[in-house]
Amino acid sequence: MASLGSVAPGGTEAASQGDLPARPQPKVAGNGRTWAAVAKGTARPPMWTQDQISEVELEALKRQFTDVVEIPSEEGKLARAAWRDTAVIVRSVGRRVPVEWIRRELRMVGKLDYDVEAFLMANEIFAFCFRTESEREAVMEAGPWLVAGQLLAMERWRPNFVPGEKQLSRLVVRFRLPNLLMEYWTRSLILSIAAKAGHPLALDKFTDLGRMLGYARVKVELDAREPIWPGTFIRLGTDVHWQTFRYENLPAFCYQCARLGHGVDACPYQPDSMVSEAPGDRSA
Ligand SMILES: [Zn+2]
Repeated sequence: MASLGSVAPGGTEAASQGDLPARPQPKVAGNGRTWAAVAKGTARPPMWTQDQISEVELEALKRQFTDVVEIPSEEGKLARAAWRDTAVIVRSVGRRVPVEWIRRELRMVGKLDYDVEAFLMANEIFAFCFRTESEREAVMEAGPWLVAGQLLAMERWRPNFVPGEKQLSRLVVRFRLPNLLMEYWTRSLILSIAAKAGHPLALDKFTDLGRMLGYARVKVELDAREPIWPGTFIRLGTDVHWQTFRYENLPAFCYQCARLGHGVDACPYQPDSMVSEAPGDRSA
């Protein structure tokens, strides 16, 4: 109901320009609406849906409607078993990606000879069901998942996952350590520096071989709900320097809290509650 004052686009404003014959101005009702708009009536209120009631109202309703549907435990186990070993939950952390494109990618990267079953859970969150557990596991290993340039968060299906209430958070991503100091080019040092960003999964094979490309490249698993580390200080004796992390294909993140999914204007985190240790330790 925000636009009561400004009804009928193109309605009341177009008249009275230059030497046009004086066209009668539309008569105006109270509160600035034209009579024509009044005659049309107010917009029909939207259908009642759960989205229309507030959390507080819903809580009040739950206290009245307290009946419970009991799921027989055997049946419940079977229902979960159908998903537990073979399904993944997926969402794009960037722009929306058509579900068919994700299926195509899963089929290709997983070297499958069939299309996985796809289910829309809610709000662009999909479940994909494989035929075998090993195929599902191969796909979980194969990240980062990138479709149409958008990174996908992907997790094994888990019981009681309510989209919206719980977030998909497992994101596999590659990132680079540009201008990494020569003396830190060992597998174990690179992995421990990368551990600031998340859980390191693998070194890029070229990185593993040596320092030919000028940057080390690591595959890490991130929690997409947590701040994305833009880099870290590294200290050796009295020498401290900043090592930048350059993530591949990560959408822009909020520069106030360094999290994905919102801009600085909508940032729910106060600057004070932010990461403020520098240069210090964070146990991963
Ligand atoms: Zn933020």
